[in-house]
Amino acid sequence: MFRTATAIFAAIALTGCATANTSQRVPGEVLEGGSYEYTPEAEVARGSRKTERQIAGSSARITDPALVGYVEELTASVSGDFADELRVYLIEAPAFNAGILPNGAMLVYSGMLLRVDNEAELAQVLGHEFGHYYEKHGLKRQLRSANTEGLANTVGLAVGGLGHLAAAVVGKSALQSYSRSQELEADIVGLEVAADAGYDPNAAIQLWTNLQAEQAASSNEKARERSAKTKSARYDTHPTSTARIAALRKATAKLPTRPTGTNAAEYRQRIRPYLTRWYEAELMTRDYGSVLALVERKRGFGEDLGVLGYIEGAAYALRREPGDEALAMAAWEAAKQHSDAPAFLQGDLAELMKTMQAAVPKDLKGKDRKAKDKSATSNTTP
Ligand SMILES: [Zn+2]
Repeated sequence: MFRTATAIFAAIALTGCATANTSQRVPGEVLEGGSYEYTPEAEVARGSRKTERQIAGSSARITDPALVGYVEELTASVSGDFADELRVYLIEAPAFNAGILPNGAMLVYSGMLLRVDNEAELAQVLGHEFGHYYEKHGLKRQLRSANTEGLANTVGLAVGGLGHLAAAVVGKSALQSYSRSQELEADIVGLEVAADAGYDPNAAIQLWTNLQAEQAASSNEKARERSAKTKSARYDTHPTSTARIAALRKATAKLPTRPTGTNAAEYRQRIRPYLTRWYEAELMTRDYGSVLALVERKRGFGEDLGVLGYIEGAAYALRREPGDEALAMAAWEAAKQHSDAPAFLQGDLAELMKTMQAAVPKDLKGKDRKAKDKSATSNTTP
């Protein structure tokens, strides 16, 4: 039982050692064989390569060719002529997140893959990241900064979302955010390229609506407050979900064609091998309200009921509020009737509950508490 959660936790903690320290080249420095010509653009390119190397070397990187190839193919279909310029990196981390470097290195989190319901929604997210690249948002942001000297050391990934996890992958100095108008611009590009690729543009609206609902159910008070105000406290420049949805509605109405493709069943089949592992990682954020809301929504598709029931029970078992242990038992009893339930649900369930509770202490201390404040859905702005 619980075979992967600890391993994932360890992997995330380990990657925290990654930092952005490298030797800094002095502008105009004379190199062997000729002079080094300093330009801000060259510095941004150098910084991008450096950050990309950190991402590529992360122990949280998913390298399964089947899954990586699938996301790459979809990225290619929304980026058209630019496909050759983009490189996709999948990272296993419980956060709704994605990002792109000015050099076309794209970062896709498993927490995002878990939450989207179909290929059309994933196409929107990948299209949005491509939009940042196409509009050169990362480069523009870098070049605007007052001091371009040593720029290579500050080039990073604009990610909205789980800052501490992204930092664990690429180093804190590599994190930055786009402006509100750049986010909306990327949304529109995403909408258009996904529609061109044949995907239902309503998927973007559905995706943000789902995320808002999950955030409203969060165990994290700050996330709930943000959801109520539909305003991000940490990234004030980011569009609120409500503003985002309104803008997407307007843009959807203007599209010349509105295709209806979603490929929902195929999408679920693609991520199925990872479900247990990814949901267990979500439990490690201790945002049980969010996990329970997510499981309940996914149950609506009528598939994966054994895994979803196992996770539902585990969320109750770990939350430990009055009545939760009975709810956990009931969820597991129901789950084990389904053929996809983990085999250990056929064993002693009381023992399972004890083992699980011993593995994940109820109370958080110090660093863990800080991490919880930034749990999976606390900020959902790729
Ligand atoms: Zn964005």
